Amino acid sequence: MKPETRVFDAGTPRLIGQLGSTRRSAPSSPGATRAGLALGSAGSPAARGEPDGGPLLLVTAAIHGNEPAGVHALRRVFARLEELQPVFRGRFVGLIGNLAALVAGQRYEESDMNRLWSKRALAELAAADPALDKAERKQQRELLAAIETELAQARGEVVHFDLHSTSGDSPPFLVQNEDARSWELARELGVPVLRGLLKNLDGTVLDFGAARGFTSIVLEGGQNEAESTIEHHESALWMLLVSTGVVEETPAMELAAHKLRIARSTSGIPAAVEIVLRYAIEPSERFTMLPGFKSFEHVVQGQLLALGGPSGQRPIRSPMSGILIMPRYQGQGHDGFFLARPSPVASVARVA
Ligand SMILES: [Zn+2]
Repeated sequence: MKPETRVFDAGTPRLIGQLGSTRRSAPSSPGATRAGLALGSAGSPAARGEPDGGPLLLVTAAIHGNEPAGVHALRRVFARLEELQPVFRGRFVGLIGNLAALVAGQRYEESDMNRLWSKRALAELAAADPALDKAERKQQRELLAAIETELAQARGEVVHFDLHSTSGDSPPFLVQNEDARSWELARELGVPVLRGLLKNLDGTVLDFGAARGFTSIVLEGGQNEAESTIEHHESALWMLLVSTGVVEETPAMELAAHKLRIARSTSGIPAAVEIVLRYAIEPSERFTMLPGFKSFEHVVQGQLLALGGPSGQRPIRSPMSGILIMPRYQGQGHDGFFLARPSPVASVARVA
């Protein structure tokens, strides 16, 4: 990828692309339209009950502004769809989450945009005066409006795919609500599922999906700046476009190559692992992860992982043998690292 395409400026639009059938199909040709018809045109919403419904694949990227890989991947996929002109049976929409933070190249401006989606936080947003919005509240209101527009027009299944990346090196992994459809999509993607993370997090975008009754899954594609992270996002997007039925597969999509890329990047990792320990960094602590650790790497009991304490010199050793998850190699956040164990692939109905 050329370096200049990595730059985001104030003119970057929140809508990365929108393609598909939901808004534009003539009643005489239900369900199918050529890709180019809806590109870049918002169009007028079809009235409810028209027979042109299909699945909606709604993708958000850069909910954290320092995670640009998902935006690059979406741009590539939309550009390729324009070239390929496949038949659409549904709708594909790509949105930038925290546009201001993305332009600034930082995780967030004032508050983490992936902690603002609880019912309480959304009620606060609804009650607040939009004229006084700033920072993440402004970003969230704009993003929410775009999402609500799509949800209001959706007739078929809605799948929300939220693209993230991590500060440390990592193979791709998924975080999802514990519902059967999410497990099914995880199996189709062939990406390991990290369980137990949501116990420590309140108000992620996944909560919004669960509350509104649509499938919502997060893909952590790899390290924030790595080219391979863009590729993982890109491959997963192609696989989901086909498996959700949004587009009809064609040989030019090279789906087998995308599946192989994902399979290679996750080789040797269990289909699911569950977090059993979180190292919480104290407010006064100077925490430094030892260099070179990678997510999903096996560590043994007693192994030196980090230095911490008020002095920044206290050795932090692994209290157990297990799988290291998300070692922290950035300044923000209170999670030093997590430890996980292989977990059965479950299909547990989530209680909303
Ligand atoms: Zn993120």
